[in-house]
Formats: sequence, C-alpha cells, structure tokens
Amino acid sequence: MPPTDTTEQLADYEQRYHDLAAQLATIGLIHSGSLTARYTRCATPGCKCHADPPQPHGPYYQWTAKVNGKTVTRRLNQTEAELYQEWIANDRQLRHVIAQMREVAAKATELKLKQAANP
Ligand SMILES: [Zn+2]
Repeated sequence: MPPTDTTEQLADYEQRYHDLAAQLATIGLIHSGSLTARYTRCATPGCKCHADPPQPHGPYYQWTAKVNGKTVTRRLNQTEAELYQEWIANDRQLRHVIAQMREVAAKATELKLKQAANP
C-alpha cells in the first residue's frame, strides 16, 4: 500500500536516501575517464591480420580523460586495463547512486518545504 500522508511519504524517502548513502560506502576505488580497446591491421602482406578470417593485432588498451579541459591519453597493458576497467565502473556506479540520491532528495525537500509552509 503506498504511503498516504506526507509524514509517511517523507519517512519513505528518507529511508531510501539513507539506503543509497549506505551503498556509497561499499563502492571501491574510482577513476575518471574511459577505456578503449583497439585492434589494428598492419601493412605487412601475408600477415595474419589480412588472413581470412582476419586476426587483427591487439587489443591495444588506451585510457582517455579530460584533465583541466585537455584530453589526456595513456596506453595501458592488459593488467592496467583490467584495473582501470574496475575503477571506471565504480566511478559510473558512484555517479548513478548520487543521481538517485538527488532525485529522492528533490522529492523529500519539496515535502519538507510544504510541511514548513503548513505546520
Ligand atoms: Zn599484421
């Protein structure tokens, strides 16, 4: 049954907000930017990258981010790429949880303002 009065609804929002805040504490290390894996073909005739089916060279991993308005890139090996992948996924999860917190907070603060206006 959905909560009917403002106090119940507010308590529901506050509970959801605290649940989301608790999720933040479980998120591991974060890192900005994005990761790409590239495959290339060389110019050597008869190389496996020109075979049928082709076996392109790679993957070559690259991390890209904007730092102070400039695009920064860094080549990564397989191990580094796996770490970055995890940290970047954590970063995405963090932003997702915060976005949900903002939504819930917007509803809760609206109710609080209504309560304050009509005590
Ligand atoms: Zn090749």
